[in-house]
Amino acid sequence: MLLRALIDVVFPATCAGCGRVLVRGERQVCMHCMAGLGTTDSAAMVDNATERRLIGQVPIEAAMSLYNYTKEGPARQLVHAMKFHGNARLCVMMGRQMGLELLHSGRFDDVDVLVPVPLHWLRKLQRGYNQSLLLCRGIAEVWPRPVVKDVVVRHRYTRQQSRQLGPQRGTNVEGAFSLKHGERLAGKHVLLVDDVLTTGATLGACAVALAQTEGVRISVATLCIA
Ligand SMILES: [Zn+2]
Repeated sequence: MLLRALIDVVFPATCAGCGRVLVRGERQVCMHCMAGLGTTDSAAMVDNATERRLIGQVPIEAAMSLYNYTKEGPARQLVHAMKFHGNARLCVMMGRQMGLELLHSGRFDDVDVLVPVPLHWLRKLQRGYNQSLLLCRGIAEVWPRPVVKDVVVRHRYTRQQSRQLGPQRGTNVEGAFSLKHGERLAGKHVLLVDDVLTTGATLGACAVALAQTEGVRISVATLCIA
């Protein structure tokens, strides 16, 4: 405890959104940034922006995104901290926020399993973790569902996208995913989880692979929508 207190004095925890020193009761993100995250309310809404973006690409039951990803808003900083600054604990915490939204929505109640959009093994080696898997772990803490992480495989290494999220992103992912023991998901309602929805190409390609499984139904949840 004393050591912990000493560490806190020497290296005070700072907000992953704005860099300010956190005060008592704050974890990872300060209250100001939490309040500035634009929630979409899409978990509760049929025909929301996330669903509209995926329509035509994937047959989905329901979809939601928790936050709006804007150039100026804190969501962008948080996603960068998750993906490029090694903040694994933030991923789990953000997953819990998603889990609360899913819990209260009621539209996703019959989801059986959580499936993270996989990274290519080389990318995972570079990053140390798959942020989407950690989001799933956070979701499952408050909305208990098994996390199935090794059925969808990403077998194509796509170039590291620039840290800008733009329309060019995800144009290179068609056919990048395949299934290994897809029968494990047969007849299940799968919630496919990713960090940011941009064009929907990545989620679409992943869902196309998943849809080969007999009787599978697919829903989608992302932390942010750009
Ligand atoms: Zn902040």
